[in-house]
Amino acid sequence: MAEPKTCQCGFTQTSLRTVGGPNIETYDIAIVGAGPAGLSAALYSARYCRRTLVLHDGTARASRIPLTHNAPGFDAGIAGTDLLEPMTRHAQKFGAQLVKARVLKLTAPESQFLLEDEKGAIWSARAVILATAL
Ligand SMILES: Cc1cc2nc3c(=O)[nH]c(=O)nc-3n(C[C@H](O)[C@H](O)[C@H](O)COP(=O)(O)OP(=O)(O)OC[C@H]3O[C@@H](n4cnc5c(N)ncnc54)[C@H](O)[C@@H]3O)c2cc1C
Repeated sequence: MAEPKTCQCGFTQTSLRTVGGPNIETYDIAIVGAGPAGLSAALYSARYCRRTLVLHDGTARASRIPLTHNAPGFDAGIAGTDLLEPMTRHAQKFGAQLVKARVLKLTAPESQFLLEDEKGAIWSARAVILATAL
């Protein structure tokens, strides 16, 4: 189990807890989706020292935007990929972990959620944010 640590905002980061077997550790928050919505949620969650996992299958609609003119802070317009890249880095800077995986199943058997991907890999989290767009 990882040791708790105090992060930049002064809170003590909660430990990953092992549940349901030796290899499944529980994150504070799992976010499904790494488009603008999921990455924004990940930034806030990780910045406030929540152990944050982002699962995504690499199909963000945002990556198909040639040039958007309504992204705050980019008055000259910005391509979707150019927006996602720093948003990803920013969330990772505060500790969010990104994993490429297609989530197919979400259950809540006890006090935590279990997320399962198409290969049968399983992650556990106390809270889940679905940011999968459509
Ligand atoms: C060509 C084009 C141009 C556009 N232009 C603009 C524009 O100028 N301005 C504007 O505001 N909007 C524009 N949009 C719309 C914009 O792309 C979306 O509103 C925006 O991307 C939504 O953000 P999101 O984070 O909710 O979803 P998305 O960007 O779609 O991200 C969804 C995320 O969920 C993940 N995901 C989905 N299902 C699963 C699963 N089962 N398991 C794991 N991961 C999953 C995907 O991998 C992705 O990471 C445009 C869209 C397109 C296609």
